[in-house]
Formats: sequence, structure tokens, C-alpha cells
Amino acid sequence: MSESEARPTNFIRQIIDADLASGKHTSVHTRFPPEPNGYLHIGHAKSICLNFGIAQDYQGQCNLRFDDTNPEKEDIEYVESIKNDVNWLGFEWSGEICYSSNYFDKLHGFAIELINKGLAYVDELSPEQMREYRGTLTEAGKHSPYRDRSVEENLELFEKMKNGEIEEGKMSLRAKIDMASPFMVLRDPVIYRVRFATHHQTGDKWCIYPMYDFTHCISDALEGITHSICTLEFMDNRRLYDWVLDNITIDCQPRQYEFSRLNLEYTVMSKRKLNQLVTENLVNGWDDPRMPTISGLRRRGFTSASIREFCKRIGVTKQDNTIEMSSLESCIRDDLNENAPRAMAVLDPVKVVIENFDGDAEMLEVANHPNKPEMGSRQVPFTREVYIEREDFREEANKKYKRLVLGKEVRLRGAYVIKAERIEKDEEGNITTIFCSYDNETLGKNPADGRKVKGVIHWVSAEQGIPAEIRLYDRLFTVPNPGAADDFVSVINPESLSVMNGVVEPSLIEGEAEKAFQFERMGYFCVDSKDSSKEKLVFNRTVGLRDTWAKIGD
Ligand code: ATP
Ligand code: MG
Repeated sequence: MSESEARPTNFIRQIIDADLASGKHTSVHTRFPPEPNGYLHIGHAKSICLNFGIAQDYQGQCNLRFDDTNPEKEDIEYVESIKNDVNWLGFEWSGEICYSSNYFDKLHGFAIELINKGLAYVDELSPEQMREYRGTLTEAGKHSPYRDRSVEENLELFEKMKNGEIEEGKMSLRAKIDMASPFMVLRDPVIYRVRFATHHQTGDKWCIYPMYDFTHCISDALEGITHSICTLEFMDNRRLYDWVLDNITIDCQPRQYEFSRLNLEYTVMSKRKLNQLVTENLVNGWDDPRMPTISGLRRRGFTSASIREFCKRIGVTKQDNTIEMSSLESCIRDDLNENAPRAMAVLDPVKVVIENFDGDAEMLEVANHPNKPEMGSRQVPFTREVYIEREDFREEANKKYKRLVLGKEVRLRGAYVIKAERIEKDEEGNITTIFCSYDNETLGKNPADGRKVKGVIHWVSAEQGIPAEIRLYDRLFTVPNPGAADDFVSVINPESLSVMNGVVEPSLIEGEAEKAFQFERMGYFCVDSKDSSKEKLVFNRTVGLRDTWAKIGD
């Protein structure tokens, strides 16, 4: 697609421009810091496009850093999927992949530095007591009775924690800041806790793990990050970010900037909820085409260019808002309208017998794209028996119905004009066959006697067409903000997937995984990357031809 050429501008880029102009920085270094506890979603794509996009446009660097301080929830499967998704989106990280766990030794050293400076202490309050002592937004917290231990005692207890001599939950290391601070994050935050868990990178080397707020700023500084970009909910944490860096011996002072996270209607973006959908088999895995994950969107048929374009169009601000699904869909529609070859597929077939056609199949040449001759053409077999869409035929209809009606004519796309002569039904009254005649003078031209045939419908040869499973998707939830529901599982759309047994033109047997097509009149589809094979074709509908999300009555 023609991704809009102009560089985006936003408040973060303005800050960078100013920092470069003033000489505060001479180059830009960003990072994308996912926690490997789930697959990436479209919200992460916003952050990826922002961080890697800045590095690209300013000839700077962007690290991929796994923020892996939480051994219980993390997994190597997620690490692999994240790398894969970042690359697929079109980005390459600078240098080696970084892991916060690479810095566990250094982080431990900085914790000891804080203890030595009287700025950290080992607390023995239970998590419940700690909550109680923390106070509220309107009330100052109370000091823990363990707050004023000597440096020696703190060093000794922290060493015991490290050596596995302390049970989980019995002790933690806290920064000694201000229990009366209006910023709750500064009320002596925990910076280390005991966890007897095997880590996917460090194995069983550690049984104490640093907390996010302590780890993140130090990792940024160790990597020489200049602009540390995160989402708005970390605004208050910036105080702690700066406090840690101000109080340890490190000669780099990255700055944190916050932007609003992406929210998208009719879906959820919390990894906890996405995880629940997967583990409770409410969807078919992280890459289910209904999921807002990068791998789900990819399998659904979204291109990486369309996702980058989406991120460009939504922009980067500090205002919280929720984006309509239709803006994401219009990006992929614009891309595929330009770039997807056309093909014919019948999703709900009914048989048509053209009684005055005899002989062998006639190969018709059909253009692959109506406005792009450079995309070439293909051969489509026209045969005595074809399938059309069941909804494209009616026994009776008024003039507005521009498809096939009993006793009337319609054009088969790229082929001839046919006329419905009579029908056959089964015992239940379902139409089983439509008997037609065709006018063999109408290939590529109007009927000679001036008869007007307005309607054009798509079709597939019954003899040579290939059966295919066609999966149609609807929104995964029935309400615009499922995350706000008491139980988001209860608002899952039971009709988010419907499976059709269709027939596709024979040329589609060649489609490799993820290959996109516009099925004439039916939407944009792609070959399913997991389940499709030459023996059994499976297509996913990426998006309809038009916006079906437009609100009725608006
Ligand atoms: P969780 O859902 O577990 O709280 P998270 O969404 O913050 O986690 P991370 O793996 O920590 O997930 O995110 C990596 C980066 O992606 C962070 O910098 C985060 O700010 C950013 N990010 C996550 N979700 C969004 C979103 N919806 N919009 C924009 N950026 C996001
Ligand atoms: Mg996070």
C-alpha cells in the first residue's frame, strides 16, 4: 500500500526535536520493553511503531528489551512470539536483544548501594499490613516498625533473602522515601521480593526479584536510553523513576514521557483477559483471527503495512480515547483494494445448470484487478454447471433486486448473460437447481437486440471449482467496552465465527499461506496459515468490502 509518506509529528517528536536542537542529546535511543507474559496486541503495535519509528526517522537506535522480572507469569514461548511479531511489523532492534534479567547482578548492587545510603530497608510487614500502613489518597501512611533498622542489619537480612533463607512474603526490601507523599508510589515502595521460582533466562540463580519500578529506570539508564516512552498510567511512577536514578551512582539520566494507550472498541487489550480467553478455550489460541493480537490480525489477513498505517493515522497524544474498529478496518481495506488480486468464490452455493451449453469447459480470461492491468489475468473455466450464491436468486423480486430472478436475465461476472427458466426444489421446498439458458453472443458485450441486463453476479464452475471452508468473523464481543463489563466473558459474541462450506475458482489452489484476495462482492479473504492445505482449502474473511460497522441511525 502507499503508506502515507509524511513523517508523523506528535508531542514526543517535538520534545526530541527540542532536545537535539538544544544539544541536550546528540542522538536518540528508545526501547520497546514488553513483559513476556503474553502475545503482543494492537496496542503494543502503537508503542512499537512509536519507538522503532522514532529510531528510524532520527537515525537513532531502538532496543527490544524483555522486561522479565516476574518469573511466574513469563515464558519463552512469549519471548519467541514477541521477536517474531516485531520483525513481522517491519522493525529490527539495535544490537542484541536485551533482558532486564541480564542486569540482575547490577540491580542487586544498586539495591545494596541504597541500603548503604540509608535509603532502603528490609521490612517484615505482611502484604496485608503493608497495605494498611500505606494510607490512602487523603491520609498519610504510617512508618513500618522495621523502617529504622541499622544499615548492617539491613545488609545482613537482604543477604539472607538472597540466599534463600527467608520465606516468600516474610520480608521485602523497600525504598525509604516518604510515607506521607501525595504520590502513593513514593510511600516506601517495595523494590525486591522473595520468589522461589525458576526464571526462563536465569534459571534458579535468584530467589529475590526486583520490582518493575526499580528495574525499569535502571535498565533504561544502563542501555543509554534517551527517551523512555510509556503509557499514561505510569505518570506517577515517573517520580519513582527519577528518585531511583537520582540516588544511585549511574551516569545516565533518561527521561520518561507518557502517551495515551490505544483502546479499541469491541475488544479487550489486557493481557490477563487475553490470556483467559486462550486458557479457557474461548478462542482458538493467541493467533485466533478474532483476537486483537498481532498474530491474530496477521492470520486474519491484516498486512503489516496496514497496521503501521493505522498507528500513523491514530497518532500519539496524551488524551485517553477509544478508537472505532472501523478505523482499523479501513486501513486494511485501503491496502487490499489496491493490492489484492480478485477471484471468485461462492460461499453458500446453489447449482445452476445451463441447459443450452454443451461441450467442454470454455476457458475465459479474467483480469486480476479491474484498474491494474499489470496484475495480469487468469483463466476461469465456464462449464454447463456452475454455482451461484443462494442469496443471488429469487423466484420473484421487484426491480431493485439486481440479481437473478425466475424468468429474467443476469450477467455472470466475466462471462455470459444467463436467464433463469425453471427451478427444482427438494421436499422441504429448498431450491436445489436453477435451470438456465445462456446467450452465447454476450461474452464481453451487451445483448445484440438492445435488451438491458443490469445485474452482475459472481459464480464458480461446479465441475472444476474447489470446495473450501470459509470462515467469517464478527466482533468478538457484543458491547463496545467489554473490559468494563462485570464479567467480560459473559459479553462474548456467540456468533463471532461462522463457517461456510463454499466453492472457489480453481486458480485459488495455488494460494500460499496468508495470501490475500478480494472475492468478488464478498469481501477480502486470505488463505488460513494454519489449517489450509491443497487437500482442504481454508479461507478467513479479513474484512467486508464496505464498512459494516457504520452505526445505523447516525
Ligand atoms: P499488562 O496488560 O500485563 O499490564 P502491558 O500491556 O503494559 O501489560 P507490556 O508488555 O508491559 O504490557 O507492554 C510493553 C509496552 O507496550 C509498554 O511500554 C506499554 O506501555 C506498551 N503498551 C501496552 N499496551 C498498550 C496499549 N494499549 N497502547 C499503547 N501502548 C501499549
Ligand atoms: Mg506492563
